[in-house]
Amino acid sequence: MGIELRGAIAACLTVIIFGVHIIANENSEHSEACVRTLPANIQLSRELGRSLERIYQGSATFRAQCDRIAAAEMLSVQLRFDPHIPRSCQAFTIFGKRGRELHADVHLPMSGSLMAQIVGHEFEHIVEQIDGLDLRLLARIRGTGVYQSSFDVFESVRAQNAGRIVEKEMFAPRLAD
Ligand SMILES: [Zn+2]
Repeated sequence: MGIELRGAIAACLTVIIFGVHIIANENSEHSEACVRTLPANIQLSRELGRSLERIYQGSATFRAQCDRIAAAEMLSVQLRFDPHIPRSCQAFTIFGKRGRELHADVHLPMSGSLMAQIVGHEFEHIVEQIDGLDLRLLARIRGTGVYQSSFDVFESVRAQNAGRIVEKEMFAPRLAD
């Protein structure tokens, strides 16, 4: 994919690639297994569903992201484990648009140690698209917190921050009632 990010690899949680194709939903395996507290327009394996359910229970920010995704009628999301993620990033999302339809194909690493942060980060990129952000345009403007890392690959401070918040909420000590 030729993804190459300058500087700190640790800071690169995500790349976004704007593709032109919509991935057909009907071919996904085990899509019926998604946990129903998660939005119905997210397709994922049973294993990923369990992992996301824990994040959903632990993070109000993640629940808010899910609410936004669930309310987006023209959106479909596919989450998948990807053993071939480039070493330059930890996860990435490919967006495809066709008319008003938007499809997000989220590729996640096999190791789950940073899953809350990574999923919170990727979901914020999806919310950015629901909000109608033009990352291509914003990357050309100084001070927007959006930058282009390679051809059609973008990163945002907003998504990085969201990932950190989701992780923090997940691991914050719970106060007893
Ligand atoms: Zn990102």
